[in-house]
Amino acid sequence: MCSVGIFLGETTPRYSFPDDHPLRSSRVEIFLNKFREELGNKESIKVMEPIIASEDLLLLFHTKEYVDFVKRASEYGFGYLDYGDTPAFKGVFEASSYVVGSTLLGLDIILKKEIDHIFNPIGGMHHARRDRAAGFCVFNDASIAIIHAKKNHGLKRILYVDIDAHHGDGVCYEFYDDPMVFTADIHEDGRYLYPGTGFSHETGSGEAEGTKLNISLKPGAGDEEFKEAFDEIEEFAHRIKPELIIFQCGADGLRNDPLTHLVYTEEAHRYATKKLHKISHELCDGRILALGGGGYNPDNVAKAWLEVIKGLIDYHPMVTNL
Ligand SMILES: [Zn+2]
Ligand SMILES: [Zn+2]
Repeated sequence: MCSVGIFLGETTPRYSFPDDHPLRSSRVEIFLNKFREELGNKESIKVMEPIIASEDLLLLFHTKEYVDFVKRASEYGFGYLDYGDTPAFKGVFEASSYVVGSTLLGLDIILKKEIDHIFNPIGGMHHARRDRAAGFCVFNDASIAIIHAKKNHGLKRILYVDIDAHHGDGVCYEFYDDPMVFTADIHEDGRYLYPGTGFSHETGSGEAEGTKLNISLKPGAGDEEFKEAFDEIEEFAHRIKPELIIFQCGADGLRNDPLTHLVYTEEAHRYATKKLHKISHELCDGRILALGGGGYNPDNVAKAWLEVIKGLIDYHPMVTNL
């Protein structure tokens, strides 16, 4: 049994767009209710208040111009932060800074071993680039965490695993030539889905050749295809021996998501979490940080993320008698 910290609090639903947008607050609220109902009393779970990141932490990854742009848009509260996917709203700067602050605090907590594992449901903003918002993502907490782990904790081999239905382009390409950052990403084939990237020949450049693993699945792919793909990630992880695993567990690959065409069940999340959890104990002292990501069918989001939490708690190392 492991302990799991979860960032949930008053500020959690703030990172959400107006009511007709797929990323609206109801998706988090339904998850929150289900979580309280099913797991709320578990002793191994610690619920923590999200925390806001200071600007210098945002600047570990993002450009000053972009951070200032979001700040201004946050005051006006209208228009878009990109070309039409990611609306500005009043307070978007603060809401996005809470996402980053919680992910970074989560990382610090697991590195100090205060709690075994952390899940930040509002994290995993994998499309945001250094200088721009994209695909509902304002600040890329996963990328900032990677730099924080390298720069402030001295880690040299970081594995980022992404099972969101969309390719995690904002992590993959921003570290494309960085040999310390390994990305493994299962997503719907870019010919059918935003952002249109993540093909198997994209494996990193220069010294980082071979550090990026992209697996795309055809529309209609379900649990069997997912598991087969995930087994490749397992092999990849064993080969690279990471010091930290960051797990983006977007839930938009489940059947009946309004934006994608994959048909997994929550079994995909159960399978992936159990495997990664085990790998983290075998290879990197249990250092695994889970981030929410996408998911636009609220019932699916709740089902998938409960499996993630359960999968992080449940661990029984094999006892061998010598
Ligand atoms: Zn564990
Ligand atoms: Zn997604």
